[in-house]
Amino acid sequence: MAGNWKMYKTPDDTKKFFEQFNSLVAAAQHCEILICPPALDLTTAVAATIGTNVQIGAQNLIAGKEGAFTGELSGYLIKSAGCSHVLIGHSERRQYYHETDESVYEKTLAAFEAGLKPVVCVGEKLEDREAGKTADVLIRQFRGGLGKLTPELFAQVVVAYEPVWAIGTGKTATPQIASDAHAVIRKEAAAVFGAAAAKSLRILYGGSVKPDNVKSLMAEAEINGVLVGGASLKADSFAKIVNYL
Ligand code: PEP
Repeated sequence: MAGNWKMYKTPDDTKKFFEQFNSLVAAAQHCEILICPPALDLTTAVAATIGTNVQIGAQNLIAGKEGAFTGELSGYLIKSAGCSHVLIGHSERRQYYHETDESVYEKTLAAFEAGLKPVVCVGEKLEDREAGKTADVLIRQFRGGLGKLTPELFAQVVVAYEPVWAIGTGKTATPQIASDAHAVIRKEAAAVFGAAAAKSLRILYGGSVKPDNVKSLMAEAEINGVLVGGASLKADSFAKIVNYL
């Protein structure tokens, strides 16, 4: 169960969030819990979750270790801050920062090189869905990035299916829509990496997940977890999502 805070919360807000959140999810043993705060808050979040079952990830990285790249963060720096994961290819990064399937692939390799676990986002836009091109887009995104990994690396990747039309819009994909899209991704994984790798691939659904719809989404066998934006900002609402059982 992963939360993406996007560009919200100061270090002080972050500290307050975990003071409340940690105890609300302390008993959760059915899932891994991940929060991805803004870069500024990473060290505060890591310090606030030491000894808990909550892991911390960054929202982006660039390839390489160190260098003259003003304003950027490498996997090496993120890992050294105590993070375990990194989000890659979120639709907001594809849309506003021109990330491509190729750069998503390079960033995924960079995450592995730094010892971080990548959560790679894919998903179609509204116009793709309306034109009946959802599967084509998902297959293209898969082949352009995930499909080029070695089987060893692919086995460690987490995929997040996030239909762009459902992110931050309040329009959740129905469990059926999400499940069908996950099945497309899993079928593609099976075609490239084999049935066993596809079966163990974890695919998260993201797009307006809330405490009141998480249960029906998680009831789908195809949905292995969720990636949550808005509803992860409040400790009690994200704790309800984590503890949906
Ligand atoms: C996201 O940012 O990945 C996301 C799914 O946002 P929201 O839950 O707010 O739709």
